[in-house]
Amino acid sequence: MTSVPLLVFSFLISYVYISRSGNKYDPSLFAPFFLLHMPSNSSTARFYERYPIPDVDLHVIAFSGGKDSSTLVLWAKQHLPPEKTCFVFCDTGWESPVTYKFVESMNRRFMDSKLIVLRSQTYRGLVDLATKRKRFPSALARFCTEQLKIVPMIDWILKQEGDLAIYQGIRGQESAARARMKQSEDFFARQIKYREDPKQFRRKPLFQDQVTTWLERRSCKVERPLFYWKTEDVLKICRENDTLNPLYDKGFERVGCYPCVMCSKKEIRLLADKDPDRIAQIRSYEKKLGRTFFHHGTVPDSFCKEPWIDDVVRWSRSEHKGGPKGSWSCMSFYNHCE
Ligand code: SF4
Repeated sequence: MTSVPLLVFSFLISYVYISRSGNKYDPSLFAPFFLLHMPSNSSTARFYERYPIPDVDLHVIAFSGGKDSSTLVLWAKQHLPPEKTCFVFCDTGWESPVTYKFVESMNRRFMDSKLIVLRSQTYRGLVDLATKRKRFPSALARFCTEQLKIVPMIDWILKQEGDLAIYQGIRGQESAARARMKQSEDFFARQIKYREDPKQFRRKPLFQDQVTTWLERRSCKVERPLFYWKTEDVLKICRENDTLNPLYDKGFERVGCYPCVMCSKKEIRLLADKDPDRIAQIRSYEKKLGRTFFHHGTVPDSFCKEPWIDDVVRWSRSEHKGGPKGSWSCMSFYNHCE
């Protein structure tokens, strides 16, 4: 956004320029002012900027209920052919009720109520997954993303008969890992690389054989049209179009599992303050499973030995240092977690 001093400064330059030129009526004399403030990098300009749309049979918008993917939905309405565009949402069964309501309203407003909801065929959501695995996932054992998001998504892709482009709301500005991604690449880049040189990999990628067979007939690109956008850009577009998940205005910085097993101290405190019922739910699941929701290391050992939810909440409200730093690192190449 243009700062007020810059605005005043550039206006003064224009004014002095005009006064000295002696021609007060030539509109081009305000050029310095407009050059400084024209919307070349504004969110509106970014929104309408041309993007090389691949020639495919189906454009698939990955919608998560977060601010970036909500902006992507609006972007898709502007740039993609409606008859060849669809929207998908991977449901972990562990989103906030606020998010579910928001997703439904976006579905009605922008997707003709045709949102495709993908769920695991094996697990009835995060709690069922944790129950069957006898533990909750963690940063080092992030089987939640794999089982609840990546597997249902790839499973769905492999059932499609045409060439696809999957659109993600990833922005490079969000983290160093995201900045290293490309704006456009093959969705199955891992599987393609593995086929070329399996020695580079410690483990065979998911669905390797099925993907290899599918790729003989089809292709699947991944496109990230918001890659160079800033946070302010997406927030502005969302606010202007009333498409901001209400969780953001409650102070949450990210939207997704509610909470994510890797959320920050700040988010735990916020959740405990705003939604004690969710904490009670976690308490009851921990009791049933006999395992903690947050993994060891979430809370420094010097604070408590085992991170049971009540201790984690107590810690989140304390000044005690240590524990995980700041923000989530919940993401994969497939970007199914915000
Ligand atoms: S948001 Fe967190 S808990 Fe949910 S699937 Fe992603 S990593 Fe797992």
